[in-house]
Amino acid sequence: MKGRELFKVENGHIKRMRRHCPKCGDGVFLAEHKDRVSCGKCGYTEFKSKA
Ligand SMILES: [Zn+2]
Repeated sequence: MKGRELFKVENGHIKRMRRHCPKCGDGVFLAEHKDRVSCGKCGYTEFKSKA
């Protein structure tokens, strides 16, 4: 079994895979959308900035 993967290293860059909700805290992850991430529990939404 895999452990909890929060980061993935890709081409020498650390890629953030999953973020947890700043309101709900650990254990509640934000759902990935095309241009945003959102929490299904409290409704917290954060828009992704274009890199
Ligand atoms: Zn939340």
